[in-house]
Amino acid sequence: MRYRPRFGRGAAIYPQNVRFRVTRPCPYGKQSNMSRTAIIGAGVTGVLTAYHLDRHRHQVCLFDKNEQAAMETSFANGGQISASNAEVWNNWHTVRSAFKSMFGPDAPLKIGAKPDRHKLSWFTEFAYEGLRQAKNTERLVRMALRSRERLRDIARLEQIDFDMRESGLMHVHRTKTQFETAARANKVFNASGLERRAVTPDEIRALEPALAGDYYGGFYTPGDFSGDVHKFTQGLLAICRDERVETRFGVGVIDISSVGGTIRISLDTGEDMTFDNVVICAGVGSRRLAAMLGDRVNVYPVKGYSLTLDIAPDTAKEDVPNVALLDDAAKIVTSRLGQRVRIAGLAEFRGADLSIDPARAAVLERWAKNHFPRLVSEHTTTWTGLRPMMPSMTPTVGPGRKKGVFYNTGHGHLGWTLSAGTAEAIAEIVDET
Ligand SMILES: Cc1cc2nc3c(=O)[nH]c(=O)nc-3n(C[C@H](O)[C@H](O)[C@H](O)COP(=O)(O)OP(=O)(O)OC[C@H]3O[C@@H](n4cnc5c(N)ncnc54)[C@H](O)[C@@H]3O)c2cc1C
Repeated sequence: MRYRPRFGRGAAIYPQNVRFRVTRPCPYGKQSNMSRTAIIGAGVTGVLTAYHLDRHRHQVCLFDKNEQAAMETSFANGGQISASNAEVWNNWHTVRSAFKSMFGPDAPLKIGAKPDRHKLSWFTEFAYEGLRQAKNTERLVRMALRSRERLRDIARLEQIDFDMRESGLMHVHRTKTQFETAARANKVFNASGLERRAVTPDEIRALEPALAGDYYGGFYTPGDFSGDVHKFTQGLLAICRDERVETRFGVGVIDISSVGGTIRISLDTGEDMTFDNVVICAGVGSRRLAAMLGDRVNVYPVKGYSLTLDIAPDTAKEDVPNVALLDDAAKIVTSRLGQRVRIAGLAEFRGADLSIDPARAAVLERWAKNHFPRLVSEHTTTWTGLRPMMPSMTPTVGPGRKKGVFYNTGHGHLGWTLSAGTAEAIAEIVDET
């Protein structure tokens, strides 16, 4: 039975193991401000933002151009809540290995040959952010750690079924060089508060008996976990709707302005609506909306692929993956989601293109066959999504130039991991402003 605190009287009973206590109507001891706040985008980031702002007693209206929540990048991602993957990519070893392997058939990274101004500006800033990569990684790890706990708390409190699996996450490395590079990064992780330990080839086999291949070593992070982002987002949205969150789905925001502290939103239905605040959580659509408001949020759509394998009932238990995995060299992740296995990865800079290239999907299929050779799938679904990536690889969370404008976007390769924390942060910022 799902626990619901009683509105207006605070929560009288708490389920076991809840680490932070949520009371309604206002968990922060403040009176209702009842400002009307629009949220644009109902991916995982937007729905979590709606959840937190509702707890801060804002009148929330959540917009999305799709008929349902989590139909874009939050649909079929790698499924990992992975503080251990919170390393920014603008470091020398990632860039060097990406370029070295870029022209092979199984290349994790592809950059479309067609130059355009957006791509050029993004890569220029990406190179500049290389100067701050150590600081950005540290910041990202701390954000991920906070967010990981927030997500756990919400999942327990709200009892959302999203195939959550708390078996930890293991990075695997085939060569000594790869392992030693990861060991250097591990020092930054540990210094930032992440518990992540080296594992031997024998320990790799013991932690994941289904995994084939020879490994030099790996790193295991017991606190990381996995779950289905789409199921979680839809489950949380149902809770938001049970409260007071209004939703306008199947309508696109085509224009937005802030005049004299009032936010005016124009919809593709021809309607205009006004609000006190707006939070932009529009994933790869955030750059265009920000430009309308005089802000620059340089999100680039970085395409990735995933395969979802429905496990055949006759597959032996020991042949099905158990822990979440990250193959660092291939940049491929796997997660067990109930009776499904998700395999995801690849990064392509080709603009907002969601088409499925069979040759790229085959990279993931080959990887799955080679690494889980005895896993039998009844049915496989291929998907592509666009990571909303900032050049710094860290999300934009804070106010815009104009009064009442806020951003919680640009979560890149880590939106599932980071959004519970950034949603909580932006709700506090909106409240205080
Ligand atoms: C292959 C792949 C694997 C990944 N694996 C992981 C992982 O294992 N762990 C992890 O932490 N992260 C992972 N990610 C990243 C993560 O999925 C994203 O960071 C996250 O889903 C982004 O969520 P979002 O809510 O910001 O964007 P979205 O989910 O894209 O939501 C944005 C919403 O805004 C709406 N919108 C946009 N413009 C408008 C408009 N003008 N009007 C109305 N609505 C609008 C869209 O319809 C959309 O629903 C992965 C991504 C990919 C592609």
